[in-house]
Amino acid sequence: MTQQTAYPEQVDILVVDDTPENLRLLSSMLTHEGFYVRKAMNGQMALTAVEALVPDLILLDIMMPDMDGYQVCQQIKANPATQTVPIIFLSALGDALDKVKAFQAGGSDYITKPFQLEEVLARINHHLALKLATQRIQQLNTHLEDRVRERTAQLESAHAQLLKLALSDPLTGLANRMALIEQLEVLLHRATLTPSYQFAVLLLDCDRFKIINDSLGHESGDQLLVDIAHRLKQLLQPVAIVARLGGDEFAILTTLECHEEVLQFANQVLRTFAEPFTLQDQQIFINVSIGIAIGNATYDKPEHLLRDADTAMYHAKAAGKAQYRLFERSMHDSALRFLQIETDLRRAIQAQEFVLHYQPIICLNNGHIAGVEALVRWKHPTRGMVSPIEFIPIAEETGLIKQIGLLVLREACYQLCRWQTQGLVSPNLSISVNMSAHQFAQADLTEQVYKILHETQLDPRCLKLEITESAIMGNPRSAANILHNLRRRQIQLSMDDFGTGYSSLSYLHSFPMDNLKIDRSFIQSLNEVSSGSGLVPIIVAIAKTMNMSVIAEGIETDQQLAQLRSLNCDFGQGYLFSKPLESDEVIQLIAKNPRW
Ligand code: C2E
Ligand code: MG
Ligand code: MG
Repeated sequence: MTQQTAYPEQVDILVVDDTPENLRLLSSMLTHEGFYVRKAMNGQMALTAVEALVPDLILLDIMMPDMDGYQVCQQIKANPATQTVPIIFLSALGDALDKVKAFQAGGSDYITKPFQLEEVLARINHHLALKLATQRIQQLNTHLEDRVRERTAQLESAHAQLLKLALSDPLTGLANRMALIEQLEVLLHRATLTPSYQFAVLLLDCDRFKIINDSLGHESGDQLLVDIAHRLKQLLQPVAIVARLGGDEFAILTTLECHEEVLQFANQVLRTFAEPFTLQDQQIFINVSIGIAIGNATYDKPEHLLRDADTAMYHAKAAGKAQYRLFERSMHDSALRFLQIETDLRRAIQAQEFVLHYQPIICLNNGHIAGVEALVRWKHPTRGMVSPIEFIPIAEETGLIKQIGLLVLREACYQLCRWQTQGLVSPNLSISVNMSAHQFAQADLTEQVYKILHETQLDPRCLKLEITESAIMGNPRSAANILHNLRRRQIQLSMDDFGTGYSSLSYLHSFPMDNLKIDRSFIQSLNEVSSGSGLVPIIVAIAKTMNMSVIAEGIETDQQLAQLRSLNCDFGQGYLFSKPLESDEVIQLIAKNPRW
């Protein structure tokens, strides 16, 4: 009885037997026990009853006319809707073979007639309990499966969320470097399968972004980056990917048919930046430099592709603002050469391979040598004499100029001191030393110079430091400060290569310069008599009003010399007088006391 209460409704038992006496007996006993009992007199009736309503349990006689119990059982077990109904066979057949057959047919149990009512009841209850337990397990299983499915879905969405975070740039929502690299891997793989397949990587770097960021603040800088991202996204066809690689650097990945199409696309990108951005109610113009690399089967690593696009971008930047460059093999070669020279330069500093040549500077008033400019050369063990034009820019970019600059300054000061103590030069002879922009950006430059002057005991009035416009304009305020400090120590200052950089005469007076060196290119234009003397007379006149003396660089002809003299230019330097010479040679020349 206890088992039955576990069923919410009355338990439905079908009793199948062709003996009316048995049917009646079982039925009344089971009904008395609280079961709902249905009766069937033969196999067919039993199947019809099962089909009409699936019972909870079947008591099934074996020996029946037309269809025996085994057949009935097989059919019930063959139907998925009824196969779980426990069937207990009832039979007078007592031998073991029949029991085996009954279980093979799918029966759950077997009761031998004549039966004891207690046994029948016990077995019924046992199988009902078993069925209930099985159902419970099934329910639990289904529930468990639902939970697993639910949790899997939650995990998947969390994973997708994490992936999205890991692969996107939080500021702009664009793909980040990792996502770009993943995508590049996919495309490169496709290229290995289809060798004709190609795509383009455009690397964009904003020109002047730092200035905007510094002047308008980081929030505005961030807003600008978001606006740029928005503009780039609008520009793209759906297949392209735009990523932010960090800072003000963006990348576009796009499949294109031919190189011309890539270049057209790059132009289109540049054009979208022609429109101003609005930040804090101000209109801001910003340009980008673009480096392009074509991805194809020759690449096997995304990083190499990005490296080449970066090299191309570097070339685009060097070419000026708002430009694009397509990567070429030669760019890589020059980058390699750069690396090679850098390594070589480090070694050269240790091995003391730098030597100074000296070019005389002539006082145009009396025609005598008034000073010399120290010009560095690299005495390379295999390449011979290497020009500063080739290695100074690399030394600047790598920071090695700091050491080379000090070597040059120290050697130049020592050399002049030696000449002076040996009585080989007049005490008024000056030495000019070039200072690079990078050296000029060092906070301790002044101390370094004082230290060397102190070491060498050279009169500061004999030293002239040559500085280019761009070195000053990189940071005008600190430059003015350094210049004033140097000037206070009576060191002379010359503006070198005047006319090649900003060429702004108006700012000249804010820097305490003693001399102005007019660039060679202006002196060359003096030759074209018909076109007048170009800007030289104006530059000379303005320098004079500012109390600066003027040095003309690169004088090569008598005609140039004559014109400069007529303009009252103070000093001259150039091949007409002498090329830069080794120390022995320049001393021999000075000893001859030449007069031009
Ligand atoms: P710069 O300071 O303007 O030096 C003058 C350059 O013009 C020298 O080239 C000199 O040889 C060349 N020159 C002089 N007269 C004539 C002429 O009549 N015709 C022609 N065509 N050229 C003439 P150099 O020695 O090759 O030096 C090139 C540049 O390298 C220098 O230009 C200077 O900017 C830089 N440099 C040289 N030595 C140093 C150094 O020790 N430190 C730094 N930072 N830069 C240096
Ligand atoms: Mg110079
Ligand atoms: Mg110069």
